[in-house]
Amino acid sequence: MIWLVTALAVLWFSNRYAWWRSPVDWQCPRVLMYHMVSPHHPKAKFNGLRVTPERFEDQLAYLKRHGWRFFTLSELWDNWDRLPEKSVAITFDDGYADNLHQALPLLEKYDAKATLYLVVDRHDRDWSSNKKAHHDSGELAREPKLSDEAVRALIASRRFEIASHTLTHINMGTTAAEAKRHELLAAREQLESLFNVRVRSFAYPFGIHSYEDVRLARDCGYDTAVTTVDGIDPVIPRPDPMQLKRIKVSGKDNLLAFAMRLRGGRRGWKK
Ligand SMILES: [Zn+2]
Repeated sequence: MIWLVTALAVLWFSNRYAWWRSPVDWQCPRVLMYHMVSPHHPKAKFNGLRVTPERFEDQLAYLKRHGWRFFTLSELWDNWDRLPEKSVAITFDDGYADNLHQALPLLEKYDAKATLYLVVDRHDRDWSSNKKAHHDSGELAREPKLSDEAVRALIASRRFEIASHTLTHINMGTTAAEAKRHELLAAREQLESLFNVRVRSFAYPFGIHSYEDVRLARDCGYDTAVTTVDGIDPVIPRPDPMQLKRIKVSGKDNLLAFAMRLRGGRRGWKK
């Protein structure tokens, strides 16, 4: 009996921390994916998207302590084959208000920067239902989003690159071609004119994208696009800039899990 419990414990630990995986070359840049920096809500469904401010600070302190250097996504791509070892891009998806109130002060404290994949029409929307109809609990609709003024404050901090995440957080798998083109193109144009910045990078909502969507993103004037495919891209050969991998930072991960994922890219058994 005791050996069974031990074996199960070892399996659980191994799956969670993927300790056996050798570290991916430190020369390969890491792209981290976040959503909210916020305390967890009791019994909420999406606490995995909420990294608490304490934990976010621990992660920034860890990165700093271990010599990681921070870049925006475009800086990362522009310098892909001449980056220093341990280069990292922090990314936030969607546009939650806490990115200003909670994340920015910590980014400033640790002299870090980030890239924000912003949904243009983001207020009172629960996009989780675009992925799965039964997801619609209103939880993400109730979550305060960044106002345009708040986005301007992020830009003024000079620590944020503004990037696009479509007009309304569509599901690319179920949206017609013309509507998709409009969502990608108008999002870029509206963000650029609203905030007077260049918008060069895109994130596929829910990470859902087909071969045609990759081409569409390029056609709509983006230089790079990030996915939710878990992992770390190589320096050589250069990856497809329209399908960059990211490391998901879950609100449920402790610092050891964070460190292990920074090292190996993924958790679990998956190849
Ligand atoms: Zn999203």
